[in-house]
Amino acid sequence: MVVVAGEPSFRESVDLMFNRAVRHMDLSPGLEQKIRVCNSTYTVRFGVRLRGKIETFTGYRSVHSEHMEPVKGGIRFASNVNQDEVEALAALMTYKCALVETPFGGSKGGLCIDPRQYDERELELITRRFAYELIKRDLINPAQNVPAPDMGTSEREMAWIADQYARMNTTDINAKACVTGKPLNAGGIMGRVEATGRGVQYALREFFRHPEDIAKAGLSGKLDGKRVVVQGLGNVGYHAAKFLSEEDGAKIIAILERDGALTSDAGLDVEDVRQWIVKTGSIRDYPGAAFTDAGAKVLETECDILIPAAMEGVINLSNAERIQARLIIEAANGPITFGADEILRKKGAVIIPDMYANAGGVTVSYFEWVKNLSHIRFGRMQRRAEETRHELLVNELERLSADKGLGWTLSPDFKKRYLHGAGELELVRSGLDDTMRTAYQAMRDVWHGRDDVEDLRVAAYIVSISRVAATYQSKGL
Ligand code: GLU
Repeated sequence: MVVVAGEPSFRESVDLMFNRAVRHMDLSPGLEQKIRVCNSTYTVRFGVRLRGKIETFTGYRSVHSEHMEPVKGGIRFASNVNQDEVEALAALMTYKCALVETPFGGSKGGLCIDPRQYDERELELITRRFAYELIKRDLINPAQNVPAPDMGTSEREMAWIADQYARMNTTDINAKACVTGKPLNAGGIMGRVEATGRGVQYALREFFRHPEDIAKAGLSGKLDGKRVVVQGLGNVGYHAAKFLSEEDGAKIIAILERDGALTSDAGLDVEDVRQWIVKTGSIRDYPGAAFTDAGAKVLETECDILIPAAMEGVINLSNAERIQARLIIEAANGPITFGADEILRKKGAVIIPDMYANAGGVTVSYFEWVKNLSHIRFGRMQRRAEETRHELLVNELERLSADKGLGWTLSPDFKKRYLHGAGELELVRSGLDDTMRTAYQAMRDVWHGRDDVEDLRVAAYIVSISRVAATYQSKGL
């Protein structure tokens, strides 16, 4: 968290945003408070013997709301992880899951560690030990609490966690569903790694289907040619920037990273930059663009779309006034503080809020969890049947054309695409696209349908909180 004097903490910032939304709702104060608070936070300190001595680590798992179970949310590895942050992120998970209709409550975990200081074997020991502590308290469990990757963790850590759970629950046939974001060979699903970035792309595509919304941001036209600044080229920022530039014609004019920023008016080749980072460990000296040490300043570049995709609090009271982007899409969780949000709204910027913008990850996690529970890959039963039926139609059309001498020919490209049955990746993308469109519509209905709602964030909170409230009301507290 970037801490700026006079700003509330991350959790307070989320609560203030919540409060701004509930003012427009008719909830009883008791229910309002029940939804706002974080149900529980478990803190664990455990020792691991490393390099001949015992090192103690601190980890957390917060459960914000159990109105639906399992609860869901990633586990973050970072040296500045703390209870306030984990609770804020758990709350955002509750609202995010409700908004995109994944049937989960909200949770989040974190371990105070700088993963770069440890080798792979050490990280495995630490991850397994942390997982052990959570599993034995049912804070990792397919029916109760299902973690996923977040900052500093990836498929690798999820595979260790899944294996640790399986070792401790040898007769649980649904063991693989205890965590999502696993590699394919450990029960993962295709399209999970790209999911959050893909979701950002689908969110922007949906936004650009609505001329009224585009106009609210002071923009016009399509995504094609829009000048984009991306902050953070981690998993989320990388995939979002790659897809937007390669598939939608957006121009990535700046990429900000930990050690500085790259800028190019002509547009950066995202894949090339990523390969450079993989090779050299930094964006410095990248040959295809200008480099500056003053990365933070680049956030203030004049652009159409700004994608903060790194961490919370990067747009705050200290820089909000100078942010020039017309449209900001929060690919990270909580990148704009409560105070900065107000400044940006007054300046007329449109903000696509985190709980919607980065929901692609948990959406595909939901598909993975369902896949694990059903023990079968999506499309396995239908794919060839679908192809056979399509083939039937194509053959019949061609037969009719020949019989009647119509001279119709189906273009080879059409035939190829039509005859191709959907596999898991296509089904995952289709499900994600549908989810992002449906959730946007729900937010948009509130945004445009009510005179008292001025922005998408309040609209998103209203949709989410109403759904959580409805669950509590129907099942009773
Ligand atoms: N860590 C991701 C998030 O913040 C994914 C959570 C999940 O898949 O459970 O949304």
